[in-house]
Amino acid sequence: THFGFRDVAEEEKESLVHEVFANVASKYDVMNDAMSMGVHRIWKDEFIRSMAPGPGTKLLDVAGGTGDIALRFLDYCKNVHHDNTATVKLVDINPHMLGEGEKRFQKTPYANTNQASFLVQNAEHLDEIPDESVDVYTIAFGIRNCTHVDKVVKEAHRVLKKGGRFMCLEFSKVDNPVIGKFYDIYSFDIIPALGQAIAGDRDSYQYLVESIRQFPPQEEFAQIIRDAGFKTIGKGYEDLTFGVAAIHSGFKI
Ligand code: SAM
Repeated sequence: THFGFRDVAEEEKESLVHEVFANVASKYDVMNDAMSMGVHRIWKDEFIRSMAPGPGTKLLDVAGGTGDIALRFLDYCKNVHHDNTATVKLVDINPHMLGEGEKRFQKTPYANTNQASFLVQNAEHLDEIPDESVDVYTIAFGIRNCTHVDKVVKEAHRVLKKGGRFMCLEFSKVDNPVIGKFYDIYSFDIIPALGQAIAGDRDSYQYLVESIRQFPPQEEFAQIIRDAGFKTIGKGYEDLTFGVAAIHSGFKI
């Protein structure tokens, strides 16, 4: 790879990922909009619509970062159900990202309520989250940064109540060769250049592109989810924008 990340020893991946997100934390939201031309907002809206949480849902948002999923979830419960009993616990391995999330929540109607809480945790070892304690588990654009994807999914299975749902939003594989060509040019040339121009940090964005390439394709990831004990409906995923991203989901029964 351009920066040899594929050769980085497994145990070093975690500290590399930490560094990347510490570097990008304050520019993260601006960069997301610039890189995806705003499309990540549509994917995240679709993710919450597809969850369709009921009143009082207890969500655990893992790798929650600056809180895009957590915020949309609480807004959905408020706007659709007039519900203010739903709760979200936002966990992230990186205190800088979590700090940005907390700061952002201070400016929302959920500030100083018990609807949102924040905790530093590694998705592979959710040590402070009890067994069978949450209704829905989400991880959005986070799992590909984890060293052991299978461990993450097994931890999700442990913390979910019976009947609970695992949901993952992640970059995935484009099947269409024409779209794929454009997507290659966009991700390998344009994204790192945008990273340099906006955040002054080409390497972190180069890493993000590499990590997308290395993440398993849709079917393979769906199988990892089933292997962890989840039941999937149909093939277990839905493509978004030709497979640039996908929503994977499984139920604990
Ligand atoms: N979910 C948010 C969103 O959709 O905007 C943030 C996604 S951001 C691309 C990825 C996040 O994963 C970062 O905040 C990073 O710190 C976090 N992360 C990376 N490895 C992690 C791990 N092992 N456990 C928990 N969080 C992790």
